[in-house]
Amino acid sequence: MSNRRIWVAGATAAVLTVGLLAPSGSSIAAPPDTAKPAAGPAVKVAAGETALVRFRLPDEAMLRDLVASGADVAARPRTTLGQVQVDLVVTDQELAALTARGAVATQLIQTASEGSARVMASKEAAGARAALAANTDTLQFLQSYWWTSEGQSFLAVQVATTATADPDVEITVTWKTADGTTGSFPLSRFEDSGEYQYHVALPQPVPAQPVTVTANSSLGGTTRAIRPTAWPGAVPPPNPAGYQKDFIAAYMTPTDIQARVKRLGRQYKSLVDVIDLPNKTQGYRRTASAYLGDPATAAIVVDSVKFGDQKMNGVQVKTVDPGKKNKPLKTTYKDRVLTVSLATDSTGAVISTTDQVAAFIDAGYPQVFNAFVEDGSAGKVMPIAGPARLDDGLDGTEVSKKPWTVQALRIGKVRDGSKIGVMAYSQEHAREWATPLVTLEFAERLLANYATDAETRSLLDNVDIFVIPMVNPDGANYAFNDYNFQRKNLVNHCTGAQRDPRFANSWGVDINRNYTVGSYFDGYVGGSANCTSGTYSGTSELSEAESGNVIALARAHANIKFAMNVHSYGGYFMWPPGAYKADGRITLPRPSIEESAYFMDSAKRIIGAIRSSRGTVTWPSYTGPVADVLYSAAGNSADQLYYELGILAWDFEVGNDLWNAETQEWEGVGFQPPYDEAHAESQEYASGLVELVRVARDMQADGAIQP
Ligand SMILES: [Zn+2]
Repeated sequence: MSNRRIWVAGATAAVLTVGLLAPSGSSIAAPPDTAKPAAGPAVKVAAGETALVRFRLPDEAMLRDLVASGADVAARPRTTLGQVQVDLVVTDQELAALTARGAVATQLIQTASEGSARVMASKEAAGARAALAANTDTLQFLQSYWWTSEGQSFLAVQVATTATADPDVEITVTWKTADGTTGSFPLSRFEDSGEYQYHVALPQPVPAQPVTVTANSSLGGTTRAIRPTAWPGAVPPPNPAGYQKDFIAAYMTPTDIQARVKRLGRQYKSLVDVIDLPNKTQGYRRTASAYLGDPATAAIVVDSVKFGDQKMNGVQVKTVDPGKKNKPLKTTYKDRVLTVSLATDSTGAVISTTDQVAAFIDAGYPQVFNAFVEDGSAGKVMPIAGPARLDDGLDGTEVSKKPWTVQALRIGKVRDGSKIGVMAYSQEHAREWATPLVTLEFAERLLANYATDAETRSLLDNVDIFVIPMVNPDGANYAFNDYNFQRKNLVNHCTGAQRDPRFANSWGVDINRNYTVGSYFDGYVGGSANCTSGTYSGTSELSEAESGNVIALARAHANIKFAMNVHSYGGYFMWPPGAYKADGRITLPRPSIEESAYFMDSAKRIIGAIRSSRGTVTWPSYTGPVADVLYSAAGNSADQLYYELGILAWDFEVGNDLWNAETQEWEGVGFQPPYDEAHAESQEYASGLVELVRVARDMQADGAIQP
């Protein structure tokens, strides 16, 4: 217990008084003449009472003694030059002791018994202030947009309140149409990383264009009536008669995509280069493994060091009882069979444990096998088991096991770097099957219409277009053949027990968390160091061939000034910053106001083009910086392209929610919707990419950006 606590506690204040009575071992000195009380009412503290009193002390030494002895020093007022003043919480006894030492009590500031009354009074005052503040909560529309899609009008708003810390504020929006029809709906508070952002609702169906909207809060705040803006307010130039489109007939596997790229390269020789990107992928391959024993009781996992297709699939492992007493643990590996002869004791009973067997295999064949104890089997006697066949677990028998060469199409009449470059790339995430359909439809529209459509010719004569339809072919093969929700690549960086084949669907690196800017390794949110996490960031920045390929293409072509990273699903249109640090939600640097405006203006054009296909409208609340409209994605590709290479780098999440008129609900479409939906996505988002090329051409024509 410290002196300070004793001092503060009134009941034990007498204990401290002892210290005050005998400072520094000296006897109590008579007060010097200079410290005689000034004229005025004497300060009195009733017996047993504690009070806050202002004192004038005879000298600095006394103050130091008080502080050292733990006196409850409330303040050291310096209102009178040359005097040593101090406000202390003292009992009546302490007051007497201090006075005896020469301190002069000059003001009774407050007694303890006055405290509770003041607490009550202060609470009432605070309540009154809060009530006053509540009444003055200020609301502001951040967004207020309307649009019509397939005959249905929608209203989308975001409203911010100044009462940011109050989680209970309710905000209601009221709309009115030209014929006087009104309606209202509530907004929900939206927080990100613990910080209030705004109140928002999903786009709401309305009978017609709303002419005014207002918002009211439960604290009494209200907005003025404002007129919602038409969203996106941009319409692309119409395609001419005979414009060719729809080159997509089915979902496409990596093999299909490879064949399509090859065909386009052959068919449009004068307009296309097929570029082999520098890093071959690992390939559709995995090490081969087997449980030796029963995972439910006692087992080890034997894993091959090489891939299964490198003659390790089918290798057998087994344990045998030597059938004799006092035998040591022994292994032989012959004719693709690993035989482990277990150790026995003097009675002939098997005594080798799972741990011993795993370690023995590891030590004996470090270039061939990697063995570890199955979770829950540690220390158990190794059972007689097998033969078990090692297997890589891959079901795609038609898929090549070779490392894959990822390809890009370079499309344009002038492909020498003198024209502004646009890069579109898709399927970083394996399961996003609709995304290569978008980029391939986009590529082929440009190529097929060059000869007949003047606008397409203008685009290809002036823009240098790079398309990587499939960044992650190995993961895609796995998604088509083994596990359709595979997001990551096929490289397994797990070690030890995380290599248990039961985790096979969780291995791999999230390519879009493996880039260098705002990465997990830099402390940003949205990546993981766990090799089985869906957002595993890899062993280091750009540790993976796939992410390296995207950056290599961008670095090799300095004329690339625009990029679109095509993902699914959800219907988002985003740009940097794409990541923040959790503490304080500090994002990567924001684009300038001018550049932000350019991002938004261009986005509206592109959203208008997407809409022209089947009326799909990407929501204004889903249009903006990644970190604001979706989540923090540490180490994503767009951030590296933007911050490191100065490329205006966007992201699509194709596959917008669909309005169900029957249920009056928005419905998500998923990663692999029924093909008709994926097909529709390919058509509308290809139109969006064509508009991106137009945006680039126009910017070059304006002279605002040089290739
Ligand atoms: Zn994705």
